[in-house]
Amino acid sequence: MQDTITGSGQIKINGEPMKIAFTVPKGPCLPEALLPDAQRFANQLTDLAVARVERAGHRISCAKGCGACCRQMVPISPPEARHLAALVEAMPEEEAAQVRARFAAAREKVEASGLPPHGPPDGDQAAYRAFGIAYFRLGIPCPFLVEESCSIHPDRPLVCREYLVTSPPAACAEMDSGQVRQIAVPSRVWAVFSRSTSADGSLEWMPLIEALDFAAENPAPVPQRTGPQYVEALLKELQK
Ligand code: SF4
Repeated sequence: MQDTITGSGQIKINGEPMKIAFTVPKGPCLPEALLPDAQRFANQLTDLAVARVERAGHRISCAKGCGACCRQMVPISPPEARHLAALVEAMPEEEAAQVRARFAAAREKVEASGLPPHGPPDGDQAAYRAFGIAYFRLGIPCPFLVEESCSIHPDRPLVCREYLVTSPPAACAEMDSGQVRQIAVPSRVWAVFSRSTSADGSLEWMPLIEALDFAAENPAPVPQRTGPQYVEALLKELQK
């Protein structure tokens, strides 16, 4: 067990003060060591956004049992992919086999459609949007969706924490209908996390359905940074 260090402070998000705290390994570690704090941070930012829309008289319509948005393409970073693969690895054998089968089926469906399973080249926003819409039209449930609820809710990806809507649930079944009112979060923590943990500050991502293959094909890198260095990079990226 590595020694950890805890730090806390206050930052301003859209002019609103927010307390933050991090507990990370003191020494060199993999970026996923920062994930529990990044997840909490994403939750805090989403809570801020929810409070703002509720003050304006709107109501969040997302509820347990509605998994319409869980057919969207879910972008995750390499550390999140390794985290999800480790989660599946730790599941009871039968459950893990079912999840792996759903991953394989999802990947096959994307490949059969002619879409690039890895998504479009980085930086091409128009291609990213087109990919997202085409992917959604395939109607592939997330491999972690069970009975229309997230089976890994406490561990769900950062981007899933940032997606809430005030529009009727039926609108989410038609992503490009123009009827979906997604709430604006002050910062996209999933992208901040991805950039701050990548070696060169670039946005590294893949569709969630690639997570198991990615983790199997790419051994975890040798730790290059300490926990505090990851925190520093994340806060710096947040302020850009
Ligand atoms: S990880 Fe959970 S919340 Fe995210 S898309 Fe999958 S089922 Fe939905």
